[in-house]
Amino acid sequence: MRLNVAIDGPVGAGKSSVSDAVAARLGILHLDTGAMYRALGLTALRSGTDVQDEKKIVALCRKLDVSVSHGADGQHTFVEGEDVTGLIRTPEVSMAASAVSRYAEVRRQMVRIQQKLAAETDMVLDGRDICTTVLPNATAKIYLTAAPEERARRRYLEMKEKGQEESFEKVLEDLKKRDEQDMNRPVEPLRQAPDAELVDSTHLSFEETVDAIVRKVEAKCHG
Ligand code: C5P
Repeated sequence: MRLNVAIDGPVGAGKSSVSDAVAARLGILHLDTGAMYRALGLTALRSGTDVQDEKKIVALCRKLDVSVSHGADGQHTFVEGEDVTGLIRTPEVSMAASAVSRYAEVRRQMVRIQQKLAAETDMVLDGRDICTTVLPNATAKIYLTAAPEERARRRYLEMKEKGQEESFEKVLEDLKKRDEQDMNRPVEPLRQAPDAELVDSTHLSFEETVDAIVRKVEAKCHG
């Protein structure tokens, strides 16, 4: 049986780095599905396509040649063969990704690719709709969250470390805006699946969060 771990949660809950560590502990790959929406957001910004124009964004998505590879340093994301891993982490691309991910046809295409990858390989997938839509029958389903101020604090420190200077207030404002957009879109909004287990990392360290998730996965595997 395939080992697929589904992790959903809001902006800045630490899904990506936690998923990386959980996958490493389990000896499987980690697919960061947000990177695929980010690749489309980046392509829209680069080509000057209005992210509010659903028809144009869907057309762009149909032509989008997005792929991922996994190396020792984690996932790399490619558009038309170009490695865009570093370019998709800016605040502008975050907002564009959130905007383009509202469209049903965009989601349909992304979900199809993700399901195919998960069917081929044991992996941890993190995103917004993994438990609800991409892998409703995943081995383990986790909803990872934390208080908004704590998520903004972590995001702020992470950006500062990368030399991206933004005020804490702006980071918190952007995070709340993206939460609002992701949770209230008509198509597959972010929500905790009824059968997903809640992990609230507000008062947990990184290691404690990883441990909590690995334990839940092991409990599912070994009954
Ligand atoms: O997870 P990350 O912040 O990289 O995702 C960027 C954006 O892509 C999110 O704000 C969300 O709108 C969208 N997304 C999604 N479904 C996923 C993963 C990401 O809608 N499975």
